[in-house]
Amino acid sequence: MDMGIRGRRAVVCAASRGLGLGCARALAGEGVSLVLNARGAEALEAAAEAIRSDFGVEVASVAADVTTPEGRAAVLEAGAGADILVNNAGGPPPGMWQDWSREDFIAALDANMLAPIAMIQGLVPAMMARGWGRVVNITSMSVKAPIATLGLSNTARAGLTGFVAGTARQVAPAGVTINNLLPGIHATARADALDAAAAQAAGITAKEARQRREATVPARRYGTTQEFGAACAFLCSQHAGFIVGQNILLDGGQINATL
Ligand code: NAD
Repeated sequence: MDMGIRGRRAVVCAASRGLGLGCARALAGEGVSLVLNARGAEALEAAAEAIRSDFGVEVASVAADVTTPEGRAAVLEAGAGADILVNNAGGPPPGMWQDWSREDFIAALDANMLAPIAMIQGLVPAMMARGWGRVVNITSMSVKAPIATLGLSNTARAGLTGFVAGTARQVAPAGVTINNLLPGIHATARADALDAAAAQAAGITAKEARQRREATVPARRYGTTQEFGAACAFLCSQHAGFIVGQNILLDGGQINATL
């Protein structure tokens, strides 16, 4: 199916690898030119060059921390006039509820709530003026069902989810949709790091740790960044204009809920 977005321009945050890169590559495959962001310049430029050579689209890369005002300013400057925004940033570290300080909460809110809100505030007004736009926020399945050790993530992402629920209805009349994609376990560097930590704690190999986690997923495997990117490209497509303010789980059935 042609997504109907050839020639559009997208800003994809936190996209030198993992889920952000999966989204960027899927959009590029639909003929969308990109402003690609991540913190490390070298990995970012390598990802950008691979996209240029694989898909023949224009890719500008902005090495910056999207959770800081300066970093966002650089991304917003390069991405001015974008039709599509994919919000993403690294997730907060695990821990215990009684240990988290005010500073820990502020850092999580900055990364996983206030940064995507600021990016929306920066780019959506021009989308509304042109009468077309798409925003996809990468959040987490922890929005639907808490992961207790990721309480910083549960908290910050709940705030973003609330903001999107109201705002999506306010911008929809102008042809702009905002939706959230909720990843379950996907095969990325973050999943590898979580497996390595679980392996160390349980005295088993990382492969065994992965097999144990895969067994908790009804699909019996981790998701791929390609699958995730394809879902993102659909939400950014011409066909998804009636999907407004939704939270879409991509988790292989892991959250055991009827709705
Ligand atoms: P990853 O570690 O594989 O990739 C993260 C990417 O974000 C990298 O390109 C990194 O350079 C970039 N990045 C991180 N912080 C940044 C910042 N402040 N500014 C700019 N770029 C930044 O991670 P991933 O697995 O792709 O996860 C992406 C998001 O999805 C995270 O918030 C994560 O918590 C969430 N998530 C992932 C999974 C999973 O299984 N992979 C599950 C649920 C939620």
